[in-house]
Amino acid sequence: MNDIERLNSELNTLNSRLQKIEMEFSQFDIARVKKLEAHVLHRIDMRSVSNRTSRRKEREAVLKFFEDVSIKDLVRLKGKAFGKRLFFLGDFEKARMDKFRYDYNQSIERFFITEQSQNEQQKSNQKMIIDLEKQLKELKKIGFGGLFSSKPSKKQYEQKLNSILTRLSYLSKIPYYSNSYIADEQYLYKICKLSHKYYDQVSEIDKKMTGLKKEIAEFKKQEKHNLKMAKAAAYDNETRQQSRRIKPQIPIQSNCPYCGTEIGSSSHLDHIHPVSKGGLNIPENLVNCCSTCNLKKADKGVFQFCREQGFNYEKVCDRLLVLGKHI
Ligand SMILES: [Zn+2]
Repeated sequence: MNDIERLNSELNTLNSRLQKIEMEFSQFDIARVKKLEAHVLHRIDMRSVSNRTSRRKEREAVLKFFEDVSIKDLVRLKGKAFGKRLFFLGDFEKARMDKFRYDYNQSIERFFITEQSQNEQQKSNQKMIIDLEKQLKELKKIGFGGLFSSKPSKKQYEQKLNSILTRLSYLSKIPYYSNSYIADEQYLYKICKLSHKYYDQVSEIDKKMTGLKKEIAEFKKQEKHNLKMAKAAAYDNETRQQSRRIKPQIPIQSNCPYCGTEIGSSSHLDHIHPVSKGGLNIPENLVNCCSTCNLKKADKGVFQFCREQGFNYEKVCDRLLVLGKHI
């Protein structure tokens, strides 16, 4: 197994761990979660946030969250603005959030206890409303003449009617938390609790996966480079073999065309225009020279080599032209 395969298999393992976690969240109905938006917005509006801008921003974050909520979002709820709002149902403060990072469950439970006792109050209010409405209906039905045995005046009747109406309008201004509202709240609570349970694991997996992806990209880049180098090496090797084959065709003249000294027995075949710069394996580009010049010239062009060595470029070119070479 090569490095990329090893990293990919690590990546797959992490991915399947993530998928297993996401499976647990698939019990939640996204459509219902989307419906809960109103509740969360209501919660924001009910809170005493002195800063209008921050409330507006919270609303926007919640709207954004519900707009494209997915199972993946539910898994990472804690990191989202929406999740934070649900965990910290009081005024949102970053410092407090850090302090209570590991105390989420408690704070949620505390909230729900308060919320439930509030709901009891709402329920009794609702009962009173129903009772008052009944009284009102009754009152209207019998008219002011028949309500009391002592036959009240029209004024008394209107006083009674108005007191019922005032009480009714006061009670109906207090929001009523219906049973379905409570059920929805508990649904959100369940999501929050589960996402809290997995949040650290998911963060860790996310972090590892990002690292692995980066490493794989690096390896792929390296692999591409290696391939390029291998191709170049293969080409170079081929070039050397070709020049070895062609060598007997290149006559060995007595003097080195570069330095002008006698070549002697150790002649070197030189590519006048270097292979690395696109020089070809043809007799017109190959010349025998002394070993010293060949080693010094390496992959330099004639002009650069002459300038470095202090050779007369014109003279060198003349010598090469006489030998029938291309300059
Ligand atoms: Zn030489």
